[in-house]
Amino acid sequence: MSKHPIESTEEIVSCSDHGGHPLIYINIKKGDKACQYCGQRFTFITEKPDSQTSD
Ligand SMILES: [Zn+2]
Repeated sequence: MSKHPIESTEEIVSCSDHGGHPLIYINIKKGDKACQYCGQRFTFITEKPDSQTSD
């Protein structure tokens, strides 16, 4: 199973792998990080890709 990086506009993300491991928080402000338990990667973005409903 290949895991796609999760994009987040939050500097702190949480991961529990749907309860598969203890809930942890990861600071991704300085760059991509991977969960130490499940390996899920997170990417910090400054804008939401699909939130351009108003201009
Ligand atoms: Zn995880």
